[in-house]
Amino acid sequence: MLERIRIVLIGTSHPGNIGGTARAMHNMGLEDLALVAPRCEPITADTVSRASGADALVHNAKVVDSLEDAVGDCSLVVGASARSRTLPWPMVTPRELGERLPTELTAAQGRVALVFGREDSGLTNTEMQRCHAHVHIPTNPDFSSLNLAAAVQVLAYECRLACQAELPDTQEPDAEPLASHEELEHYFAHLERTLIDIGFHDPDMPRQLMARLRRFILRARPERMELNILRGILSATQRQAEHRKDK
Ligand code: SAH
Repeated sequence: MLERIRIVLIGTSHPGNIGGTARAMHNMGLEDLALVAPRCEPITADTVSRASGADALVHNAKVVDSLEDAVGDCSLVVGASARSRTLPWPMVTPRELGERLPTELTAAQGRVALVFGREDSGLTNTEMQRCHAHVHIPTNPDFSSLNLAAAVQVLAYECRLACQAELPDTQEPDAEPLASHEELEHYFAHLERTLIDIGFHDPDMPRQLMARLRRFILRARPERMELNILRGILSATQRQAEHRKDK
């Protein structure tokens, strides 16, 4: 199961943190590392030294340009954040995240991504809003930001702990697969276009509309089939809107 958990580092600037992350992951039995637009050379002497024998994970890491490319095939995407955000998002504790994993990872094609931000500025709001949920590692509130590799270590440990436990038999044999991140992003783009077409949404006065709709849909964890129905409704809405314009 652990092989279906991906650690995603965005915009990392210290090679040592990439090495430290590889070590933390390998210690806990995680192997899938993705680097989104690293702001440093990923493999340096610092990487190798901090990886302490786990540098193969960095050599095998997927290096991509965007978060989308790193998590497109994942059914659950969780962003790790040291701070609270202006628009509150569903929050899980590290322990609750672990508790969700067995069910997530035994679901058809289930894959989970844990996303970590930049050392200096964390994750952007746009990146956070692409996640189903946020996880905060409880800390001293006056000093809440962990070193990047240390944050990976804590969550990787919870993953290991949770996956070691007996697998619950919660998955229905013929359950529909959940929508992937990529399918959800296509849906959100389609939704936004439609809302603009029917005059409900003004991109110049967004008022957090798309962010709120994202939060709602992501909280619902739609199955692929359900998302197809929602997209069908959007297509029908657009056809009607076109039809009226023509009259
Ligand atoms: N200065 C940044 C923190 C960067 S630490 C900020 O204020 O957001 C680098 C990354 O480690 C963060 O983006 C986050 O993914 C992770 N991290 C650090 N401390 C964390 C905590 N207490 N809980 C969850 N993730 C944390």
